[in-house]
Amino acid sequence: MNLHEYQGKELLSSFGVRIQRGIVAQNADEAVEAAKKLTEDTGTGWHVIKAQVHAGGRGKGGGVKLAKSLDDVKTIAGQIIGMDLVTPQTSAEGKRVHQVLVAEDVYYPGDSEPEEYYMSVLLNRANGRNMIMYSTEGGMDIETVAEETPHLIFTEEIDPATGILPFQARKVAFNLGLSGAAFKGMTKFVTSLYTAYVKSDSSLFEINPVLKTSDDKIMAVDAKVSLDDNALFRHKDLAELRDLREENPIEVEAGEMGLNYVDLDGNVGCMVNGAGLAMATMDLIKQAGGEPANFLDVGGTADAARVEAAFKIILKDPAVKAILINIFGGIVRCDRVAQGVIDAYKNMGTINVPIIVRLQGTNADIAKKLIDNSGLDVLSATEFQEAADKVQAVLS
Ligand code: GDP
Ligand code: MN
Repeated sequence: MNLHEYQGKELLSSFGVRIQRGIVAQNADEAVEAAKKLTEDTGTGWHVIKAQVHAGGRGKGGGVKLAKSLDDVKTIAGQIIGMDLVTPQTSAEGKRVHQVLVAEDVYYPGDSEPEEYYMSVLLNRANGRNMIMYSTEGGMDIETVAEETPHLIFTEEIDPATGILPFQARKVAFNLGLSGAAFKGMTKFVTSLYTAYVKSDSSLFEINPVLKTSDDKIMAVDAKVSLDDNALFRHKDLAELRDLREENPIEVEAGEMGLNYVDLDGNVGCMVNGAGLAMATMDLIKQAGGEPANFLDVGGTADAARVEAAFKIILKDPAVKAILINIFGGIVRCDRVAQGVIDAYKNMGTINVPIIVRLQGTNADIAKKLIDNSGLDVLSATEFQEAADKVQAVLS
């Protein structure tokens, strides 16, 4: 589960990580009130107005703007709220902005130039350890840095038994070329950031940029926080931060029914049990000249109710021109799945796209007879290739 920037910053702040301060606003008037409050609290004269959507690259898309007066705040907030923000990380339609973060301007001039760094905390799956990845090249695409100047990206691995050690925090500050107050600020920043990551059971923190202000303060200007869904039961307060407006509505509905569903761009809907078979089925569809419209794992119990729920979900996608059901009957017998498909089909009334069913495993032969004798417009197959050929036939 992803958090908005403002939520991520609040989480970081609660663990003692210094952040660029801000207040979230739902409309232009609230934005002005927020700006006044920030001026009282921080003394800032200028504010940045930042679109709150689950996508990075907002600056490039016009979703982050500097306001030099309260009039500016009102105008800019009014422009950004309600817009469909297109960034390098959104689709071409963009993402609707429902709220903005009004933040203090932290790029003020001073003794030195403000400097932007990159920092993330994530799991190194190769050895099962968390690592801190950081770079002097902040503010820009880290993928570009990785490609063009990989030697400017550092990693620090953390032993889970000890947590982050003081020498590691100092190494980070040293590698970033810091000294004096900024050096001290960075060691505290890294240490509290890592603690926040572990204590919140997060799967990714990406702070780009981490800023060294012109008066040597170290703070998070941006915050991408992804929480581990499997640990959310331990964090009821964080689970409540979920913003369903940011998620694909069909995926949300599928999740409520216990289905693993990922929406894709193609024309063949698929209903499969098990993630591995689902991947193989998507390959199969491609080989047959189609494109998968979704990834859908119905899980271990493919009974009539689940099959019907899966049908309904798949058919919500108007791009679907055929449905391939590919189920292995191991724990659940194929004849029961077949009956489930037939019952669901009858319950649904009209399904206007051809359906190909491949059932393999226990009682596959009985299942095929059930489908063939059902009188419904459903094609059955037992072999992978046979299923692929039938998909190809209905598409052409
Ligand atoms: P992203 O584009 O979605 O990654 O959003 P960020 O939160 O990283 O902001 C984008 C850019 O806005 C930053 O890289 C900064 O250059 C700029 N920015 C953010 N905060 C301030 C600020 O307080 N003052 C000024 N002048 N620029 C800011
Ligand atoms: Mn950023």
